Amino acid sequence: MLIDYHIHNHFSPDSDSPTEAIIEKALKMGLSAICITNHSETFTEGEGLPGTVQPDALKRFEKAKQEIGDFQKKYPDLMIGFGGEIQYEDDMRPVTELVEKTRFDFILGSVHNLDGTNISGHTHADQFFERQTEEQAYHRYFEEMLKLIGWGRIDAVAHFDIIKKYGHEYYGPFKPEKYKTILTAILKKMKEKGIGMELNTGSMHRRCRELFPHPTILKWCVEIGIEHFTLGSDAHDVHEIARYFDEAFRIAKDAGIRTLSTYRNRQPTKHQI
Ligand SMILES: [Zn+2]
Ligand SMILES: [Zn+2]
Repeated sequence: MLIDYHIHNHFSPDSDSPTEAIIEKALKMGLSAICITNHSETFTEGEGLPGTVQPDALKRFEKAKQEIGDFQKKYPDLMIGFGGEIQYEDDMRPVTELVEKTRFDFILGSVHNLDGTNISGHTHADQFFERQTEEQAYHRYFEEMLKLIGWGRIDAVAHFDIIKKYGHEYYGPFKPEKYKTILTAILKKMKEKGIGMELNTGSMHRRCRELFPHPTILKWCVEIGIEHFTLGSDAHDVHEIARYFDEAFRIAKDAGIRTLSTYRNRQPTKHQI
């Protein structure tokens, strides 16, 4: 079963993609299920600090949900999920409120910000990497990931090792074995809490040119017994939907992954791949 469980649409502060164009493209690519996973915060270029949850986030998510419901009636052949991409913040109270008040089908959890810098966007990433060693930077990132899992109100972790997207330009290729202790601790905690792992193809054509997470980490996921895996393009434009999925499938199968999961009302269903 082909799914794209990480797509941003025009209700996300960083995308203009019309929902109907997303649906048409998904059907053309042979997908059976998609999930719209918008951000709750803004990433306005030129602002030093990435924003936290926006005051209008709740309303925006309600509108997005309504629109998905309307399109689901028009396109019964495609399962359209209503999701969110929630990022870890120092103060998780606004996010917790948002998650409790909104009836999501699926929630992705992300770490985008470290010490006030957006490490997933090129505008400010160098501010973070230039001032520390690889070990410091990567440990800082994975410690933040542990906190996200500790908070835990998510269904899957998005772009698990996105730190390498820009990190590899400063320190060379990412070698998961160097961080096996903390990575194993994170994965075990994910398993304990039933949190799944996303396979994210968003940087396979640029920057680090690798799947998130690294294939070695996917093998550890299988060994540790992580139950659920999702697949997402992280498309902010319609043409990016389902991009590099053939390669992602090959990597998933090599790692021993046999199923992908879809979610309805935060409840997962496994599908053979
Ligand atoms: Zn993200
Ligand atoms: Zn995203």
